[in-house]
Amino acid sequence: MYGNPYFEVIRHDVTFPLYVEVDRIYNLACPASPVHYQHDPVQTTKTSVHGAINMLGLAKRLNVRILQASTSEVYGDPAVHPQPESYWGNVNPIGPRACYDEGKRCAETLFFDYHRQHRLPIKVIRIFNTYGPRMHPEDGRVVSNFIMQALRGEPITLFGSGEQTRSFCYVDDLIEGMTRFMEVDERHVGPLNLGNPREFTILELAEAVIRLTGAKSRLVHRPLPTDDPKQRRPDIGQARTLLDWQPAIELEEGLTRTISYFERLLSSGVQMSPAR
Ligand code: UDP
Ligand code: UDP
Repeated sequence: MYGNPYFEVIRHDVTFPLYVEVDRIYNLACPASPVHYQHDPVQTTKTSVHGAINMLGLAKRLNVRILQASTSEVYGDPAVHPQPESYWGNVNPIGPRACYDEGKRCAETLFFDYHRQHRLPIKVIRIFNTYGPRMHPEDGRVVSNFIMQALRGEPITLFGSGEQTRSFCYVDDLIEGMTRFMEVDERHVGPLNLGNPREFTILELAEAVIRLTGAKSRLVHRPLPTDDPKQRRPDIGQARTLLDWQPAIELEEGLTRTISYFERLLSSGVQMSPAR
């Protein structure tokens, strides 16, 4: 990729204006791990809101398609299960997750208003828990935490009872859905759920990681974080119909690939700096 003469990398904070020439915009800017987005919550909201305004301004000047990486967090602690795109969600606007949830919700509002007001070609996807190789070992989300703990022979930290559920999507499946949606007809603006509809309890995930790593780790319980959603599973009916898409990589296969990645990382002895 770095050898491609058309590839250029720029380090830039999206809360400031950006003047570049591009054909497509994928706005994925924002930390997504609760540990990291809660570290500087004011900056998290600014990243989603000011970032969306700047990227939409850029898209408007260039009149190009812009895709927003929104999130299953717009559904909050969902009272409807599984979650279809039509569900408006159950978000606590003043809790510790609000900087992320409400920031992403406001970004969706901005996208749809630029679409209605300025006829901008937008694409909004709602990403459900995604994992895979090249995650940061200190990312703080559950899949990388459990794998790193297992590989280091440390106890596996289950928050709460471990009965809460998530549906884990392997990164390659997610990227396939995301790029297909970017290229479908402009009439399809979303929001579109992308994720794996197979639902697991966090305890089941811990057991799978222990089995696949062969670790001797024991399970320890830690307090459940405030407003931690009890269940989450995407209804991906729309993505199936529109994109002829569904995840191909099951949890066991995806975990195996991710475990090998972290094993290589650990054996390479690379000094691991914190994720931020
Ligand atoms: N913007 C940007 N790059 C561009 C065009 C605009 O970063 O190529 C920023 C600009 O600084 C502005 C924001 O996007 O604050 C919104 O732009 P828009 O044209 O919608 O609003 P206006 O400039 O009229 O306030
Ligand atoms: N979790 C856990 N142990 C950890 C990290 C997370 O039990 O070390 C739980 C967390 O409480 C939540 C689920 O795993 O119920 C997924 O958490 P994550 O931070 O990955 O993402 P979320 O879906 O909550 O944004």
